[in-house]
Amino acid sequence: MVPVSTYDLVVVGGGSAGVTAAVAGARMGLKVALVERYGFLGGTLTAAMVGPMQSFHAGETQVVKGLAQEVVDRLRATGDSPGHVPDPIDYCSSITPFDYEGLKRVLQEMCVEAGVDLWLHTLFLDAAVEGGTVRHIRVWQKDGVKELAARFFIDASGDGDLAAAVGVPFQVGREEDRLPQPMTMIFSVGGVNWDRVFDYFQEHPEELQHPVAIHGTIDPERLRRLPFRGFSAFPTLLEEARAAGEFTIPRQRLLVFESLRPGEAVVNTTRVQGLSSLKGRELARAEVEGRRQVWELVDFLRRRVPGFEEVYVIAVAPQIGVRESRRIQGEAQVTQEDILAARHFHDGVVYGAYPIDIHDPATAKNKTRRLPEGEYYSIPYRALVPQGTANLLVAGRCISASHEALAALRLSPFAMAMGHAAGVAAALALKDGVAAREVDADALRATLAEQGAFLPEA
Ligand SMILES: Cc1cc2nc3c(=O)[nH]c(=O)nc-3n(C[C@H](O)[C@H](O)[C@H](O)COP(=O)(O)OP(=O)(O)OC[C@H]3O[C@@H](n4cnc5c(N)ncnc54)[C@H](O)[C@@H]3O)c2cc1C
Repeated sequence: MVPVSTYDLVVVGGGSAGVTAAVAGARMGLKVALVERYGFLGGTLTAAMVGPMQSFHAGETQVVKGLAQEVVDRLRATGDSPGHVPDPIDYCSSITPFDYEGLKRVLQEMCVEAGVDLWLHTLFLDAAVEGGTVRHIRVWQKDGVKELAARFFIDASGDGDLAAAVGVPFQVGREEDRLPQPMTMIFSVGGVNWDRVFDYFQEHPEELQHPVAIHGTIDPERLRRLPFRGFSAFPTLLEEARAAGEFTIPRQRLLVFESLRPGEAVVNTTRVQGLSSLKGRELARAEVEGRRQVWELVDFLRRRVPGFEEVYVIAVAPQIGVRESRRIQGEAQVTQEDILAARHFHDGVVYGAYPIDIHDPATAKNKTRRLPEGEYYSIPYRALVPQGTANLLVAGRCISASHEALAALRLSPFAMAMGHAAGVAAALALKDGVAAREVDADALRATLAEQGAFLPEA
């Protein structure tokens, strides 16, 4: 006999979207289980060491609030984030640096306080579905396979594992060749001499400029004085290293953010292409290649980058970062046109302004497409509602969006806001006894607004 546990709501995935979904549902009185394969929360933000969060703002307007802002407030209270600060890369309206361990702590505290039952070290296996209604999921733990039955489910696995298991159609990759955005292995270093870095930029400002900066040029002196520094720079040094046979990574610029501690930095520059994160053997190869690239980059930093001569590695991310995998087919799909036209859907539940940011699946290039400065787009509730199901929602980077649209919507503040919306929608569906697709969008928006979310006129 497989042991069975029963809940109102089961959330699969304890990342940005899953935690806010579980907390939102539990605060509305639901008995909630959160299923997470690792022993800690935060998902890509902590397991893949992604950061800073970007962006809560559209120009001067803060467009992500609610539970996502509560996470930031709590991080500030524990000294684990300065809050929202200017983006040193000049790529988006604000960034929100945070400490990884601080985030694990805050997310765990929010879940525990809300009464969420944390099923950590628990791997989602498959699901039982009857006529579009998910009855239970099966999970694997060290002591065997177990069942979690619930009235409602949220797939916040990033990969859409639950939605795919119950037969929801999905897409992977770009239209022309089905290739998704590349994976990246992030690592942190200590021993950075920031003064030396900025002295170099003063002498070589051209190494700092990049074509997608909002304001056209970046002033090295202003950058030096920012509370949190960083750069997307050194194209010449990278090409020199490539010509010398020292650098093989398909990337044109070095992307680095300062971390919260003096002399430390996070390097987001490796790039693994042509392997699928959805296939076990290929994911393993991606991990191996990502870690190989880390050490190639460390050699490059020490040998060629001013201010990085003495760096030492503090941590390599526990797992390679996956930008894109399954995008499920929902009742609505967000497209590139919706993003660039800053479209406001009548059932918009999440707002954002981060540009379409495509790390090319096959070359060393990045492509950016912006909406007008200060404007913002919306994610409709229907993009969270998978086709053909009654009691299932998705939240986070597996929502219903085109390859291009997801290149904007995958960012962590939006994942948190989507989770918030999904958790509240689950509670409303159960209260009203309706299917996910029948949840009253006006009531959902009103409840989210009462809970502090940003909800402008639709
Ligand atoms: C390299 C890289 C750089 C990025 N840079 C930034 C950035 O600078 N700023 C920013 O804001 N965003 C950035 N992003 C995007 C952002 O980090 C993610 O898209 C976002 O955090 C995804 O949140 P999520 O909750 O949807 O998924 P995740 O955070 O991936 O959460 C999914 C959770 O589900 C769990 N899970 C998955 N499958 C199973 C299973 N079968 N059983 C049990 N548990 C499972 C995972 O362990 C994980 O905890 C970046 C992403 C990458 C990969």
